[in-house]
Formats: sequence, structure tokens, C-alpha cells
Amino acid sequence: FQREIIQSEKLAVVGQLAAATAHEIRNPLTSIKGFLQLFEHKFKGDQGDTEIREYTRIMVEEVDRMEKIIRDFLLMTKPSDVTRERADVNGVIERLLVLVQNQATLRNINVVTDLGELTPVLMHKEAIQQVLLNLMQNAFEAMNIGGTLTIHTEEDEKYVSSTIQDTGVGMTEEEVANLGSPFYSTKTEGTGLGLTVSSKIIHEHGGILDIRSEKGVGTTITVKLPK
Ligand code: ADP
Ligand code: MG
Repeated sequence: FQREIIQSEKLAVVGQLAAATAHEIRNPLTSIKGFLQLFEHKFKGDQGDTEIREYTRIMVEEVDRMEKIIRDFLLMTKPSDVTRERADVNGVIERLLVLVQNQATLRNINVVTDLGELTPVLMHKEAIQQVLLNLMQNAFEAMNIGGTLTIHTEEDEKYVSSTIQDTGVGMTEEEVANLGSPFYSTKTEGTGLGLTVSSKIIHEHGGILDIRSEKGVGTTITVKLPK
């Protein structure tokens, strides 16, 4: 067991202000949501007005969306003074697979794993789990008519690599070029922050996020963490 304290880079002043603002918006949002849910409840049943109930439901959904954007944004601006420990990436993946199996079945996605023997690497486990989950989530969302998610791990002299491959919609060269830009999303429900946060986390680990994609064929993303 080994640990190391990583000093975070100081956020630019604007970034700090943005983070503080996002944080402050959270409290009023919570109370708005609370009252909306109360409305929703009040207009339930026979005496309920269907129209008002429908509008209230939409408002709750929109508040949920704001909360999601703020959560992802704060994750990105969060200082990274974290305790790292030596851990096996396969263990993180196995845990995630239990979490996502249900979703895979529902979406008619076949999950194939090929996990090689790995040297434990120094990592902020929670953050790496977040990255791998973001990547699996994107893979699922790219395969709306089902498909295969393949997860492969291996190591060389320098890196421990995890590859997440999907048989989804894939991306054009231009779409790949946009990846990682904050708020870039092609989804109606997307925040476009998943890959921004993920690449920040991987770079903080001294790692590499490698993306290969072909439109109509699928996408392969490799996370390399230094040994
Ligand atoms: P979000 O998932 O909220 O849209 P992300 O940062 O996770 O944000 O992804 C940004 C965009 O990159 C997605 O909207 C999608 O267009 C594209 N993308 C990411 N992963 C994949 C993938 N596995 N297959 C196809 N497109 C992808
Ligand atoms: Mg995403």
C-alpha cells in the first residue's frame, strides 16, 4: 500500500468564480424542486388538473437537468488534492460491470470482457471509476439498437491500458476533433462534460486518453495509466 499527495493546480480566478456560482445555484434549485414535487403531489388523483401536472413534471425534469450540469461542472473544477493508492484497474472494472449489467441487458447489449493480468497502479480510485463509467455510459448511449461492449485490459513496460470498445454509431473525424470541449454534446439529454472531466482526470494521473472511431462502425477508447 502506497500513497502520495498530489498538489492541485490553482484554478484561474474566473474558474473559481464559476465554480462558486455553480455551487450557489444548487441551493435555490433544491428548494424549487422540492416545491415542484409538492405541486406534482397536490395535482395527483381525480381532482388533479392533467395539464398542470404535466407542466410540473416537465419543470422537475428541467431542474434535474440543471442539477446534472452543475454536478458535472463542479466535478471538473474540483481541486484534485487527493490521496492516491495503488490499485488494480481490473478490480475497478469488475465493480463497474456489476453496476451496469442491468442497463446492458435492458439495452440489448452484450458485454464481453478480456481482462489481462495487471500491475497495480497509483490512482485516485473514485476518479478512475468515474472515468470508466463515463466511457461505458457513452458506449451504451451510442448503441441504441443494441450491440457489443468489449472491455479489454493489458499492460506494457510503461502503461496499464483499459480499452472500451463499442459497436455503436461512431463518429466522423470532425466529431472526434470536438471531443473533450466543454458542453460539446450531440445528445438531447447530454451535458457534454463527461469527456472533459474524464480527460482532465486522466491527465492529472499522467495518463493518456486515446480515441479511435469510425462513423457507422463504432468507437474504441483506451485509457492508459502510467505504471
Ligand atoms: P455527453 O455524453 O453528455 O454528450 P460526453 O462528453 O460524454 O458528453 O460526450 C460528448 C459527445 O461525444 C457525445 O455527445 C457524443 O456525440 C460523442 N461521443 C462520446 N462517446 C461516444 C461513443 N462511444 N460513440 C459515439 N459518440 C460518442
Ligand atoms: Mg457522456
